[in-house]
Amino acid sequence: FDRLTTLGDVARYHHEVRPEATALVFEGRSTTFAQFDRHTDQVANALLAEGLVKGDRIAYVGKNSDHYFELLFGAAKAGVVLAPIGWRLAPREIAYILGDAEARMVFVGPELLAHVRDVAVLMLDHPIVVAMEANDYGHPVFEAWRDAAGGGPPDVAITSADVAVQLYTSGTTGRPKGAMLTHANILVPRRLAAQADLDWNRWGPEDVSLVAMPVAHIGGTGWGVVGLINGAKGVVAREFDPTKVLDFIEKDRVSKMFMVPAALQVVVRLPRARQVDYSRLTHILYGAAPIPLDLLRECVAVFGCGFVQQYGMTETTGTVVYLPPEDHDPDGGVRMRSAGLPMPGAELRILDEHGQALPPGEVGEVAVRSPANMAGYWKLPEATALAVDADGWLRTGDAGYLDADGYLFIHDRVKDMIISGGENIYPAEVESAVYGHPHVAEVAVIGVPDDTWGEAVKAVVALKPGAPEDPADIIAFAKGRIAGFKAPKTVDFIGALPRNASGKILRRELREPYWAGKSRRVN
Ligand code: ATP
Ligand code: MG
Repeated sequence: FDRLTTLGDVARYHHEVRPEATALVFEGRSTTFAQFDRHTDQVANALLAEGLVKGDRIAYVGKNSDHYFELLFGAAKAGVVLAPIGWRLAPREIAYILGDAEARMVFVGPELLAHVRDVAVLMLDHPIVVAMEANDYGHPVFEAWRDAAGGGPPDVAITSADVAVQLYTSGTTGRPKGAMLTHANILVPRRLAAQADLDWNRWGPEDVSLVAMPVAHIGGTGWGVVGLINGAKGVVAREFDPTKVLDFIEKDRVSKMFMVPAALQVVVRLPRARQVDYSRLTHILYGAAPIPLDLLRECVAVFGCGFVQQYGMTETTGTVVYLPPEDHDPDGGVRMRSAGLPMPGAELRILDEHGQALPPGEVGEVAVRSPANMAGYWKLPEATALAVDADGWLRTGDAGYLDADGYLFIHDRVKDMIISGGENIYPAEVESAVYGHPHVAEVAVIGVPDDTWGEAVKAVVALKPGAPEDPADIIAFAKGRIAGFKAPKTVDFIGALPRNASGKILRRELREPYWAGKSRRVN
């Protein structure tokens, strides 16, 4: 591990030590670590043959595939920076990111090929298109494009400070920003975690990791890369499908997987989820959004494996805070509501509005300093300067506090906090309370303008099929679980909550109609 400073080193290292072990499995296609190293050399050489040079950007728009990871590592070997783009985005949004990244080539999944023409129309400079699978549009196909290139390591000097991947933030609070993540951002935290020998982070040759979250987000790309770094077999799911998750667990003997709470919720609610043999599954890592406590308890009961919460963001290359399995004892008290402890090498601070550090127990904005902190936002020096100070502290935009033992409790995004009658109310706490109501399938809590209170708490609820619309009952239920001033004053009903591809509730969309023509305070 200590010798590995770039993603190229990772590919070469596993080629040496476990050439015949399986690196990736995707829909019946299996790639050994020896092949992975050779293929990624070829990808690098193919990119250079297209005339690309170190520092150029390329993009990937498609669902998950094993070839995506070959592209990522291959580009990194050539010093070319891959920016994956969410396939669920509208053509206009895809065009925005392609343009922002100044992508010189775009690799397109089969489901998106029809889109590409719409996207190309919106673009000023037409990037070279390579299709990931056979197609009727006349685009070259990835595998043939790769295999036409020569083998052997490309002659490009790469250092740990070079950018390895450009991941766009989820765009929950505004336009997505391109976070530039270096080889060191990816590898140093993994090395420190391995040295600390956290039990849930031990990887052995028997480990099988399921990559079921979209690769356009850190929860997909980051998790896939962690498996490859640790020499595990990575089973790549084209897209998240709850039934297939259970199939992968049974047939591919998945031992570790990462999922967002919204995904876990659909899996755990499948009737079949209670019949599957989970004896191979050692750990479920979950995070990227707040999890309702009742959902977490249900998951612990059904899956019966170790659970590890992950808190982090695109800008921190994923996880910077983790809640270990031993803090998931349903009778263990308040700890289960925590996001956990800093990863080895990471430091946390809670800041007041002037940027001064607050003592334990006080709520403020969470700041992180870690070797995983991004190199900056691509082409956004001002936004970078606002986010990261001269000493390397990154402001997360999340509100939270540390307890006396250093456990982080995340309340919510600072911008989503509701101020009602002078009290600060955090939507996630109210959502967690309302979620326990037997008729509620999903809930989002927002602040709406109120002449008396400034803002009033509103719950937007998606009911389980056939359940009656009874706002008074939901409000009374919430009042039984949290302080009265935090309970919703009103309830709206909706078919399903608006979420982005990383499963995050778009509270700003729910808020919009209520705030039209009015200005909400800016934090
Ligand atoms: P944008 O920055 O474009 O608005 P985003 O912040 O949703 O989008 P991501 O980087 O994917 O983009 O998400 C990071 C955010 O996810 C964190 O700032 C935090 O609000 C939330 N988050 C991550 N992990 C957790 C967790 N364990 N518990 C609660 N919230 C979490
Ligand atoms: Mg963010």
